[in-house]
Amino acid sequence: MNRNPFKSKKYATSKIYRARPQDIERTEEERPNVPQGIMTKCPKCGKVIYTKLLLKNFKRCDECGYNFKVSANERFAMILDEGELFELDAHITTKDPLQFPGYGDKLIRTQTQTGLVDGIVTGKGKIDGLPVMLGVMDSAFFMGSMGTVIGEKLTRLFERATKERLPVIVFTASGGARMQEGIFSLMQMAKVSAAVAKHSEAGLLYVTVLTDPTTGGVTASFAMLGDIILAEPGALIGFAGPRVIEQTIGQKLPEGFQRAEFLLEHGFVDQIVSRDQLKQTLGNIIRLHSTAHQGSAE
Ligand SMILES: [Zn+2]
Repeated sequence: MNRNPFKSKKYATSKIYRARPQDIERTEEERPNVPQGIMTKCPKCGKVIYTKLLLKNFKRCDECGYNFKVSANERFAMILDEGELFELDAHITTKDPLQFPGYGDKLIRTQTQTGLVDGIVTGKGKIDGLPVMLGVMDSAFFMGSMGTVIGEKLTRLFERATKERLPVIVFTASGGARMQEGIFSLMQMAKVSAAVAKHSEAGLLYVTVLTDPTTGGVTASFAMLGDIILAEPGALIGFAGPRVIEQTIGQKLPEGFQRAEFLLEHGFVDQIVSRDQLKQTLGNIIRLHSTAHQGSAE
């Protein structure tokens, strides 16, 4: 399969979604606009950092290692070859199934502010020359909450990956279910999980990267279903919030509970990978599994 995956007619209705790797790689040149302003303050240690330097440093504070939030676009720039994603299902929007009061207006406002259609961008790209299907959630859109659009786009992503025998990588960032879509949000957990299962039964690789925060129904479904589960340092990962758990069990929770490091210690996460190592780590994992798959059974 040496065919260029980006030239397939099947994707004729999609568009090339080009991230801007130059935002991360170049610091000398003037960029026309710096989205967060010239300086950014670290919320953890208070250090004021040049935004350009922050982008160059994978949006990590060089003082304390705090991971700033990463948009879907920035993530593609960090992970994919040439920062280039061939976006799929770009125009799927919610039908507002419950006609929830005020939801329609808030959607339009958020779409305008973020440039996103909903809380996930999915597509096909390459890591170290190896084709992958990739889904990246963006917490800037309704806190990355999962509604019908995220469920549908992920399901289609897994179905395509199964058909084309490609690995899937999903970056999770979510506050849970989309309240405005009620039961339709909850249904997505089962729907995506079923598509993940079919992909898995076909013997294909699924890697999740849990980023801050990954909670609620996303944790309870596809986030924790990866064959390999990676996490970013310090990421909050859990189902219910700590206060709810404390009230329910009537006990104080241990220090660092629901952080990536705690979950690694307790076997829920396979590896914590810092952002500068993430692309290489993912490349190695995919290469290892694709060789095993094509080569003689060993
Ligand atoms: Zn800091």
